[in-house]
Amino acid sequence: MATPITIGISACLVGQNVRYDASSKTSHFCVKELGEHVQYRSFCPEVAIGLPVPRPTIRQIKKQDMILVSRPDGSGEVTEALAEYGKRVAKIAEKFSGYIFCAKSPSCGMERVKVYSEDGKGSTSDGIGVFAEQIMKANPILPCEENGRLNDQVIRENFVARVFAYRNWQQLVASGITKHKLMTFHSQYKYTVMSHDLVAYKSLGRLLAQANLDVNDMAEQYITGLMTALKVKATRKKHANTLQHLQGYFSRQLNPMQRQELVEQISAYRTGLVPLVVPLTLIKHYLMTFPNKYLNRQSYLNPYPEELKLRYGY
Ligand code: SF4
Repeated sequence: MATPITIGISACLVGQNVRYDASSKTSHFCVKELGEHVQYRSFCPEVAIGLPVPRPTIRQIKKQDMILVSRPDGSGEVTEALAEYGKRVAKIAEKFSGYIFCAKSPSCGMERVKVYSEDGKGSTSDGIGVFAEQIMKANPILPCEENGRLNDQVIRENFVARVFAYRNWQQLVASGITKHKLMTFHSQYKYTVMSHDLVAYKSLGRLLAQANLDVNDMAEQYITGLMTALKVKATRKKHANTLQHLQGYFSRQLNPMQRQELVEQISAYRTGLVPLVVPLTLIKHYLMTFPNKYLNRQSYLNPYPEELKLRYGY
């Protein structure tokens, strides 16, 4: 049996009552939908460093040039303890294929965490959770997201696609990387990259064409480039452009009516009349009638389990 995909997650998001008021913040999507396809390793950094449940709230406070985490009155400072624990979990997270953080938390928030002024009279929303920062700093290409942002259909799809792509990459590395395997991997991800970032699509191709580059250096540059490209939002325009390229592979085999239907569905998707799943389903249908080995291997057509229904909403 294949090893399941492992994702790190803030413990309160999977229903553990570890928050300051002994509640949880269960994410339906994480538990009931994505949870069917991955296994989670949950961490509550505040409990892990010895804070009780329930506990007084803590916040990020700016003191001169430093951001400290403590109770609002400045007592019970835990900045260092959270950072140290973050460094330990960051090592474990090297094996993960993604991480989901609980938004806004001074420990777990990925971005836009509230940072209070020392006198408590003002705040900015530009902090990063002290624990989360360590995970992301040590694992810069690990797909990371927050529970709140995952309610957005596009961000949700983007995160899950990155997780599955990264997981495929980790398996490739584990099997021993060669230039040939690298080329094969890239050929499978060509249209996925095209739907996110056309410039990266071209530059990744050029990178793999460098005959004198050491394979490990090439692999490192490739996966950094790929994961960076996949973070770029895939718009309707870019998807429609990618669909047109796919259509080009078998359009000569289609009769005029089939060709016209596909053109119309791609156009309807481009203008927002139908979701992405509509032209994609038609392309997959035609691919069954007119098989094409190259297209069948494209991750773009099957980036993650169909049951997640991530291409139905946009
Ligand atoms: S946000 Fe992080 S620190 Fe706070 S309860 Fe959830 S897991 Fe624990």
